[in-house]
Amino acid sequence: MSKNIERIAVLTSGGDAPGMNAAIRSVVRSGIYFGKQMFGISQGYQGMINNEITPLNSKSVSNIVQRGGTILKTARCMAFKTPEGRKTAYENLKHHKIDALIVIGGDGTFTGAEIFSREYNMPVIGIPGTIDNDLFGTDFTIGFDTANNTVIEAIDKIRDTAASHDRLFFVEVMGRDAGHIALWSAIGGGAEAVLIPEKETHIDDLVEKLMVDLKNQKTSSIVIVAEGDHGGGAFKIAEKVKERFNYDTKVSILGHLQRGGSPTSFDRVLASRLGQAAVEGILKGKNRKMVGIISNRIEFTDLTLAIKNQIEVDESLIDLVNILAI
Ligand code: ADP
Repeated sequence: MSKNIERIAVLTSGGDAPGMNAAIRSVVRSGIYFGKQMFGISQGYQGMINNEITPLNSKSVSNIVQRGGTILKTARCMAFKTPEGRKTAYENLKHHKIDALIVIGGDGTFTGAEIFSREYNMPVIGIPGTIDNDLFGTDFTIGFDTANNTVIEAIDKIRDTAASHDRLFFVEVMGRDAGHIALWSAIGGGAEAVLIPEKETHIDDLVEKLMVDLKNQKTSSIVIVAEGDHGGGAFKIAEKVKERFNYDTKVSILGHLQRGGSPTSFDRVLASRLGQAAVEGILKGKNRKMVGIISNRIEFTDLTLAIKNQIEVDESLIDLVNILAI
């Protein structure tokens, strides 16, 4: 183990995700286990610039494994994109004698970490915390499973009312650039169709499919729309469908409730594994890597690859939605 890393700081940055607290707890307790001094930085990179850096002990992270959000708070910080901002951030880390950094967030967070680490020779490990599951180098990101569970709980409730009134529901879920939540929740929630940013939206095909459903006397229809799909969002698609197809059509935008809530068991375990692996990795000299889980094993991927590489949408999942919606 590297002898010169004694003081490690952790932060959460970018969009929050359920399970970030479990990751913070794991980082802090794993660090303490290895005899290191642990620090928390509030408000992501903004807190680094504002010198919001405080020591954390084992008790500081008690009773948080089950809590959504992040006790360290998160922020988007424009100043960190400037050399002056990063210089101030570095001076604050130096003041606290921080030797290494663990950042929990998405690709923006990792981009900042990569630049900062090269500029100031600061060892850094990234932990993937985003509900979008859109990072290369891990099968799952922290928060994705919880967000899916939240969405399917909502779909189940919407289906009750949809079935009672023979209604067609368009449910818009998060995913500006990635359709993973839409796809998974469409399968888990038994949706009739799914529209995602990775594919073109064909209203004709959708209408045709819904007409077949009507003929087959399906009592309710639910279409999942990722917010970034190319049809202009759930309201616009619902309008276009309604022009062609006389059916009682409703729209439900799930919005920010998808980010909240107590993390699922899966996310807590994932966050705990990744937090511990991040600390062990950094103490073993790993640098500018994202820690992820691939085929249930811990793997480290260069931050540059995790940021740059696109996750392809799994075509078989799209097929599955269609097969199961006959
Ligand atoms: P996420 O990590 O969820 O993708 P953002 O894209 O908002 O979230 O990024 C989080 C933060 O990372 C930004 O507010 C900024 O402080 C930092 N960051 C993003 N891109 C850069 C960059 N090119 N240079 C320096 N810092 C960056």
